[in-house]
Amino acid sequence: MGDGDVRRLIAGNWKMNGLEDDLAEVTTLAQRLETPRPDNVDVVICPPATLIAPMHALQFDTIGLGAQDCHTEESGAYTGDLSAAMLRDAGACYCIVGHSERRDYHGETDEVVKAKLAAALKADLIPILCVGENLETREAGKAVDTVVAQLKAAFPGAGKGVVVAYEPIWAIGTGKTAGPAEIEEMHAALRQATSPDTRLLYGGSVKPGNAAEILAVSNVNGALVGGASLKADDFEPIVRA
Ligand code: PEP
Repeated sequence: MGDGDVRRLIAGNWKMNGLEDDLAEVTTLAQRLETPRPDNVDVVICPPATLIAPMHALQFDTIGLGAQDCHTEESGAYTGDLSAAMLRDAGACYCIVGHSERRDYHGETDEVVKAKLAAALKADLIPILCVGENLETREAGKAVDTVVAQLKAAFPGAGKGVVVAYEPIWAIGTGKTAGPAEIEEMHAALRQATSPDTRLLYGGSVKPGNAAEILAVSNVNGALVGGASLKADDFEPIVRA
């Protein structure tokens, strides 16, 4: 299977942004994606959990729906948390796991991420597993080994049904992006560690102005987009890139 055969995925991560009125941006995006309909690309928005059911009710057929996190357990005494089954029930089809903001601010270890990924799969959600190195690790020349180890720790099996997003932490929300050579090296290693049909996304300050260059890199099958996914004016050109 060649790189071009893997169906692309452009996923938007709204993080802790968005009230119900902001779903108007998704409606606008959906309308714009009607003509022409982009071929061979899935488009997904991961709004905050409060907007999953309202977005599901809008029944967009060009835009899929994802969650940003799930709990490791199916149910129980975990005040404030949401299980993968609950997110599926609310209408999500995808679930981000192991985002660096969860790893940093909520102390999620590789072991926790592994359990979340398994919980997502069990609930029939497609996990978007985030991996990525910090600046210190990149500068020490250990980025590839660190990221591949992170991937294998969370997901020892080979790729089936899991999307992997390489997000260098130093590039998230900073306006910096990894260069094409850095992305190519990392994605080649991730391809080797997964399977030919695993969708490998790049994330980290993807914008309309840099999306085409990033998406042209070998083994990049799409993007995970934070800030630029909030507005249809920014997200549509990324999808079309
Ligand atoms: C992200 O949150 O996954 C992300 C890549 O954010 P941004 O595009 O804003 O850097």
